[in-house]
Amino acid sequence: MVPISIEQFVSQYTKNNPSTNKKSFTNKLNESVNSKKFGAVCIQCGNPIWAIGSAVADWNGCFTCITGESDSDDDYEIDDVC
Ligand SMILES: [Zn+2]
Repeated sequence: MVPISIEQFVSQYTKNNPSTNKKSFTNKLNESVNSKKFGAVCIQCGNPIWAIGSAVADWNGCFTCITGESDSDDDYEIDDVC
């Protein structure tokens, strides 16, 4: 995965999704990053969660279960937990 900082990702995401509340999305992202640091796992398959996807989808999931794809090389993950 491609590492990105929370700030960078939030500004990119809110640019593409202007209706998103920047502050609450940042909080949500911080929460899933912390969950991942403490070993949160995907509720479907038990793999480590994808912090960005879990924040966006609003449930703890890994990349594959959230996107249905196995190739995550071009996708972002927060640098702290990448
Ligand atoms: Zn999964």
